[in-house]
Amino acid sequence: MGRVAATKAGWTAPSRARVARIRERLAGVYGVPSAAPHGDGLAELVLTVLSQSTNDRNRDVAFLRLRERFPAWEAVRDAPLEEVEEAIRPGGISKVKSARIQAILEAIGAGGRDLDLSWMVDAPVEESQRYLCALPGVGRKTAACVLLFAFGLRDVPVDTHVSRVGMRLGLLRDKAPFEELHDAMLALTAPGAELELHVNLLRHGRRTCHAQRPACGACALRRMCPSRAKLERGP
Ligand code: SF4
Repeated sequence: MGRVAATKAGWTAPSRARVARIRERLAGVYGVPSAAPHGDGLAELVLTVLSQSTNDRNRDVAFLRLRERFPAWEAVRDAPLEEVEEAIRPGGISKVKSARIQAILEAIGAGGRDLDLSWMVDAPVEESQRYLCALPGVGRKTAACVLLFAFGLRDVPVDTHVSRVGMRLGLLRDKAPFEELHDAMLALTAPGAELELHVNLLRHGRRTCHAQRPACGACALRRMCPSRAKLERGP
């Protein structure tokens, strides 16, 4: 059975069979998530900016307040910064996020272009990835959220939970930089399993494989986890 990525600096990528077993075990615990792409790339982009350093609830409150306050993205872009900041305050670090949202909208609309990302549905994924990552403050994770959740395209967001669980299970190289993590995650994910693997690794990170004191004894993947013994021994 082949490896899903090249061997790198003393670390060997997992075999496809191993990835498939982990995927199957996670699906046994958490099910197979299904969420049809919603088609609104700009909304997903703004939502992802709002999600930084806060929980889902506060992010959603901030997003709803923004949508209620401003009838269109053009109005968000053209509003006084303080008004945007006030609208998204429940999401935290609103000064930074409001400036970033306006800078992103400015960049998308530069030269009189429409504030619209729907062209990505028919564009090569790499082209959309490059476009998104060139926007102010947008990195691979945010780009992957837009591509996967809005358009159902082949990309996998690697957030703090996905990277931690992936590293502990030996799917991802420990301490790998973000760019490498996204490339590696994509390489090990079977086409069509992008949403499933992302969501189930995230759920596992939130519910069992916590950053501090993971519940290894109750973990459905404990027999296939190379980190368990070390984590149970403690520091
Ligand atoms: S055994 Fe422990 S470290 Fe490994 S995946 Fe489960 S909870 Fe995480």
